[in-house]
Amino acid sequence: MEHELSGNEQGWWVVSQEAKLWLPKGELPFGSAAAAGLTGMPALPIGEWAVATVWLVRRTMPRDMGSVRQILDAEPGLFQLAGRGVQLAEFYRSHRHCGYCGHAMRRSKTEWACLCDHCHERYYPQIAPCIIVAIRRDDRILLARHSRHRGEIYTVLAGFVEVGETLEQCVAREVMEETQVRVKNVRYVTSQPWPFPHSLMMAFMADYDGGDIRHDPHELLDA
Ligand SMILES: [Zn+2]
Repeated sequence: MEHELSGNEQGWWVVSQEAKLWLPKGELPFGSAAAAGLTGMPALPIGEWAVATVWLVRRTMPRDMGSVRQILDAEPGLFQLAGRGVQLAEFYRSHRHCGYCGHAMRRSKTEWACLCDHCHERYYPQIAPCIIVAIRRDDRILLARHSRHRGEIYTVLAGFVEVGETLEQCVAREVMEETQVRVKNVRYVTSQPWPFPHSLMMAFMADYDGGDIRHDPHELLDA
């Protein structure tokens, strides 16, 4: 629950607005609220990292507002909580009014949700499921160069899950659409919250089943 900072609170400070994150010295600030200059501001505890509270303060600072992408190399748990903070700040900013009836909403005190007292609708943060897949054929792997990436980087294929689709169907569809290749033995490996802007990336392995690579020129430069 949101609480007005006395200055003595200790922890990590996720100061975020409009999908930006405060990164003085390129890092997530740690220490007292007073030292961070946040006394008197409302803050929400959003988790714990290294036995310290992670706080969300929904505001912008005069300088050093960057992207959560800048701390991709930080400890995974801390990066995850910073991503949670940025996404919650965006969720609260984009859910001030009910999408059904247009009335002003309030934030739930017990969960990450916004509540409409007029029509009793309840909204949760949106999470967009994505798949990323390594396709192997003997000792080779399918890599592609994406038109949306700058530079010469080749990566495995990835894409968003569509409504009414299983993860396995999504893997097969994305690979077919982008490269005209059929896959089999699709198996789940691991997942990672990917806050750009609010995805959950799910990683798969698959085997080549057939087809010749023909890349989609709208999405890929090469495969
Ligand atoms: Zn409503």
